[in-house]
Amino acid sequence: MMFDMDLEEGAPQRPPPAVQVPIVLPALALSRPSSRLADGRSASPMQRKHSVTAGVVSMLERQLDDTHIDSDYEDMAGSVRVEVPIVEEYVNDSAADGAQGAAPAASGPAPPEPARRPRVTVDDFDVLRLIGKGGYGKVYLVQHKETRRHYAMKVLRKASILLQRRQIAFTMTERSILSEVQHPFIVKLFYAFQSNSKLYLIMEYVAGGELFTHMANERIFSEDQATFYAAELVLAIAHLHRLGIVFRDIKPENCLLSRTGHLVLTDFGLSKTALGEDGRTNTFCGTPAYMAPEILESSGSYDLSVDWWSLGVLIYEMLTGAVPFKGKAPQQIAKNIAKMKVPYPNYLTPDAKDLIIRLLRKVPAKRIGYGPAGVANIKKHRFFRRIDWARLEADYECFTPPIVPSVSGDADVSNFAAEFTGQQLPPSVAANGSLDVLPALDALDALDVPAPGAEIDPATAFHGFSFVANSVIMDGSN
Ligand code: AMP
Repeated sequence: MMFDMDLEEGAPQRPPPAVQVPIVLPALALSRPSSRLADGRSASPMQRKHSVTAGVVSMLERQLDDTHIDSDYEDMAGSVRVEVPIVEEYVNDSAADGAQGAAPAASGPAPPEPARRPRVTVDDFDVLRLIGKGGYGKVYLVQHKETRRHYAMKVLRKASILLQRRQIAFTMTERSILSEVQHPFIVKLFYAFQSNSKLYLIMEYVAGGELFTHMANERIFSEDQATFYAAELVLAIAHLHRLGIVFRDIKPENCLLSRTGHLVLTDFGLSKTALGEDGRTNTFCGTPAYMAPEILESSGSYDLSVDWWSLGVLIYEMLTGAVPFKGKAPQQIAKNIAKMKVPYPNYLTPDAKDLIIRLLRKVPAKRIGYGPAGVANIKKHRFFRRIDWARLEADYECFTPPIVPSVSGDADVSNFAAEFTGQQLPPSVAANGSLDVLPALDALDALDVPAPGAEIDPATAFHGFSFVANSVIMDGSN
């Protein structure tokens, strides 16, 4: 039977993309395609989301064996560095959805009463529009019924996650990182909850759309524009690195713009907190065009400096309109990343060229940004000479961003692709605001294919996922 990863029942079904892979990839990581077509032209959002060719799959199949997947899962399950305040595990669906996720019965003396946390379920939200699709699921604009506040809700199907054990680690990591990290240039997580069949992340709605869209509109950015986004990105990456988190998937689609035009990093699906003792990790993932050469090497061991490589690719792309490493197939891109000398158009200023050269050094230890003093070296590079870092960090709102997206209200979705926002929501969603169209059915039971991750107990695999942000509690509202 064909397993449709995240299509809601009743949703209009899109024809499968022409040359493309089945949705379930051996490594979820590479289900996130490059933002541009191989030859550097812009791709439509739908093309981008599905532009990983079969070549990537076979490349991955070669690079990821089961041992690797297992060890990554163990790694993430056992030694995630970020500790998050796990509030309680509760079931958010109808009674028919079962008792999965309920806290174990207490034994011995009762523990002190924890601070009262609002109990939140998917029924607390009206689902207004589909705004995007990622490798992991769909993202909707939703409105909290009581407070009328708008949020972005990411919905992930447990069944598809359970098909790949390593995805559990990625999913749990996204929730852990988002709940831990508080930074103006990183998307905020307000709630995480789950049903038997789905995981939900309720995040701030970043209304200005993807940086990718604005790049495509302007074709190339001026150096001042590029410097601004690069600077905000440097602060976001530096903040993550301070917490020992490698983002690993820096690209324009993961950089959203707030309604005032500031950068907001999103999609922590690939991020990793559990660096080994030597500060290195070796999971093969990311997006080919933005990937550092050490990720592509067969040994594949790498550290935080992979994010600085991706920053170099992004700055190059902002200033020239195309990524530096292109190719007809992912293998070709990978080969170019490993071997090719980057062509620098002569309209690049010496400062821009110098920074990109330093960021795109193939040997990580020689790359600017490497090591403990690395961020300071990036910040004092002449490319950023007009950036007042202390002020940007302390009071970013006093800076006027180069692009202020047109946003007419809290529910404006005009900065997102019409192919998503124009989709009709399934009747079940429109009728009751709930996305859980199979409430009584565990999604795994709905499959008649043996799931490779089937030995994982779906009832406990996502223990620790539910979350309520402290800011929500202190605010006293939902
Ligand atoms: P993701 O699965 O995180 O890659 O999300 C898929 C797409 O949904 C992104 O490329 C964005 O266009 C959109 N998106 C994700 N998170 C948000 C958010 N917090 N606010 C607005 N749009 C978002």
